[in-house]
Amino acid sequence: MNIAIDGPAGSGKSTVAKRLAKGLSFIYVDTGALYRAMALYCLENDIDTKDKAKVSEAVNDMDIALKYERGTQIVLLNGRDVSGLIRTEEVSKNTSVISAYPKVREKLLGIQQDIAKKNDVIMDGRDIGTNVLPGAELKIFLTASVKVRAKRRYDELKERGEDADLYDIEKDIKERDERDTNRDIAPLRKAGDAIEIDTSSMTIDEVTKKIREMV
Ligand code: C5P
Repeated sequence: MNIAIDGPAGSGKSTVAKRLAKGLSFIYVDTGALYRAMALYCLENDIDTKDKAKVSEAVNDMDIALKYERGTQIVLLNGRDVSGLIRTEEVSKNTSVISAYPKVREKLLGIQQDIAKKNDVIMDGRDIGTNVLPGAELKIFLTASVKVRAKRRYDELKERGEDADLYDIEKDIKERDERDTNRDIAPLRKAGDAIEIDTSSMTIDEVTKKIREMV
């Protein structure tokens, strides 16, 4: 069985998907991590992410793979575990720039479809229901207001003891939404047969329970 969960940053996708996957013994596939690994490669190799031609060429030098250790997803970039390094704000910003490039998306499509063909998965991202797994048995589209999403991200950073500015986070999220929604290929969009859930005033438990019932 394949479950697709799409939505913008901070809508609660990964938290909810992880919980559901655990309860159902499904594999949780965080597709954003694949795009993030590619952006990290560019940053580490001084490739300007705004330079579409350079990034598209560099894609050939990137070997991206996923593996699972005790249910936790690990992202490998040319054989190196980069799961921790891809979680910075700098990587987030640059990821939404390169994810608009056809060569980047082409490279990652097969990896995602392959894992879903072989396993029961809950996959989250931006184009899972529309593009990666159009035949998924259940499609969910999670949303929440920008203010709520920014606050969630802010709280997450503060909890990790990191410096955070609510205004900057909100600005970054708006820019990311704008790029992800308006790109030409595989933009962030609700699939026609997806069920939309606004999580703005819901707890994680409530959202998880609601989707669990649908499953
Ligand atoms: O979900 P996450 O915040 O990790 O995604 C980072 C970025 O990767 C998104 O802002 C988006 O630009 C890109 N992405 C995508 N398609 C996906 C998953 C992520 O374009 N399926």
